[in-house]
Amino acid sequence: MITPGSTIGILGGGQLGRMLMLAGRTLGYRFHVFEPKGPCPAGMVADLEINADYSDEAALKRFAEGVDVITLEFENIPSEVIDMLSAIKPVLPGSRALHICQHRQREKDFLKESGLPCVAFEYADSAESLKTAIQAIGFPCVIKTAAFGYDGKGQIKLNAPEEAADCDYLWNFLENPPRVVVEKWIHHIGEFSVVCARKADGSTSTFPMAENIHVHHILHASIVPARITDATQAAGAELACKIADLLEVVGLIAVELFLEEDGSLIINEMAPRPHNSGHYSIDGCITSQFEQHIRAVTDLPFGSTELLKPTVMINLLGDVWSDGEPDWAGLLADPRAKLHLYDKGEARPGRKMGHFTLLGDDIDATLEAAEAHFKKL
Ligand code: ADP
Ligand code: MG
Repeated sequence: MITPGSTIGILGGGQLGRMLMLAGRTLGYRFHVFEPKGPCPAGMVADLEINADYSDEAALKRFAEGVDVITLEFENIPSEVIDMLSAIKPVLPGSRALHICQHRQREKDFLKESGLPCVAFEYADSAESLKTAIQAIGFPCVIKTAAFGYDGKGQIKLNAPEEAADCDYLWNFLENPPRVVVEKWIHHIGEFSVVCARKADGSTSTFPMAENIHVHHILHASIVPARITDATQAAGAELACKIADLLEVVGLIAVELFLEEDGSLIINEMAPRPHNSGHYSIDGCITSQFEQHIRAVTDLPFGSTELLKPTVMINLLGDVWSDGEPDWAGLLADPRAKLHLYDKGEARPGRKMGHFTLLGDDIDATLEAAEAHFKKL
């Protein structure tokens, strides 16, 4: 067990790291953050911020030597870095989970080989093979770069054959990636996610399933409890635990799911870290996803993930600042609203700047009130 008072190192300095630290601090832990470019949102609440490139071995070594355990808030960390750090201090959630989740091809292969439900897919590594892959999948479909995509970046949706006529153009548009996945576009009736925590002894703890609304491929709102049957929620939790076990995760893994009309769940993607759709748990649950992650990587007992009240989380993207500073006083005039801002500086469109949660008694009424507050910001 890594006792309170010890120092936890976090790779990545974004808002997920910041919220991990805010949760871990209440348990008495100290934090060092490693982030190439500072100042960063996590660095502002860390005991030490190291700004150096992932190729700077001396800085990585210094970082590892100064902490008791290392975790991350960002999965696109080169595997050589993880290997190097692991030789000095434990790196959690573990290299297997990271290696698989940071690459869509490995992720899809893992799902298929494990017999888990996922979308039909093909790979391509050139404009020519892209054409073949698109023909095999049919329309509508979506092309996704295999690595480094997030919030819909590196993706092109194709609705009809005309849009796939010029594969050279599509390949250039994706900036000549080494590899892409072409996926069948699922006509889902909803998107859901489950965050699961797992400890080294194999015990797991899942958070209530979130119902997620995306706008322009970016998460807009999470609604909890999800407005689907208990059986579907249980099936989602079971899938998440199974994935956590297979990947031997120590920490959190978030599983994004599509629900099809026939009631079946399909796995979209996984992230071995806290997830935006789990932010509701900070205010909505007895224990937040961030605290649970800290408990998992330090080997403390899990806290209860019980939902305290129906909760809606709404993301605040930079767009909300288009007419200047939003009306925070107006939002907080509703005493059930909780505001979280990440201190990220410039509010660019599409940039995740913060979120708010609203706790209510009836989930539909809470969603309606949250959307009304959002519109007035
Ligand atoms: P990321 O979150 O890494 O940007 P995702 O694969 O989760 O990438 O895609 C972002 C969003 O795009 C999803 O949440 C979903 O709304 C939509 N989407 C992606 N792939 C599909 C698909 N195969 N069928 C239907 N919708 C999809
Ligand atoms: Mg996603």
